[in-house]
Amino acid sequence: MEARISATHFPLETLGPGRRLGIWFQGCSLACAGCMSRHTWDADGGRPKRISDLLELWEAALGGGAEGLTVSGGEPLEQAGALAELLAGASRLREPARRERDGSGDMPDLLVYTGYEPAELTPVHRRALRHADALITGRYRAGQPTRLVWRGSANQRLRPLTPLGEARYAPHLAREGTGGGLQAVVDTREGPGVRIYGVPLRGELRRVERGLREAGVVLRRPSWRP
Ligand code: SF4
Repeated sequence: MEARISATHFPLETLGPGRRLGIWFQGCSLACAGCMSRHTWDADGGRPKRISDLLELWEAALGGGAEGLTVSGGEPLEQAGALAELLAGASRLREPARRERDGSGDMPDLLVYTGYEPAELTPVHRRALRHADALITGRYRAGQPTRLVWRGSANQRLRPLTPLGEARYAPHLAREGTGGGLQAVVDTREGPGVRIYGVPLRGELRRVERGLREAGVVLRRPSWRP
């Protein structure tokens, strides 16, 4: 099976605890005003990737000490079959990796971002999320800023789903960020570009743009502008 993918990155350090593999699904029809990832909206954009190739990335990340997988987008649930296969495979592969590390280390967790609210999830969505340890749910609402870590607006909820999710995320449910929670990665695969990973505080993207400009880097098509 294939998924349309916007990007992958390891080590991702700004969307979930620890060093993680990030996989961003392509395609989102929810069109939140103020979304910083408009480049992920087009369902025909990004690139097709085999789930087996994504799982190879996960295996490599586990070998490199990954503490978790973060799946974001775009809207991962708009490719529910591919998401189900990815999470099932990621769950299967993490146990041997943990045994190889030291036999008792923490199990890497699986975190999924979705713009849907729990009440909107269909049986197909719920099946796709069967192996997720935690979800961050809800549309981005620009008018409801928050400082809660890993959430873009105050309506979004971090929801542990499993005992591992509880253990890993309970300390962060009410934890607030202090800024600086963004990671910038130079990406030249489609011409000169910078990818910014993480959830910005209000006004933080403007500061990033200003800082880049002062360093001589002018963003021509930032993904957060219509
Ligand atoms: S914030 Fe998330 S759910 Fe909303 S439009 Fe952007 S990618 Fe889609």
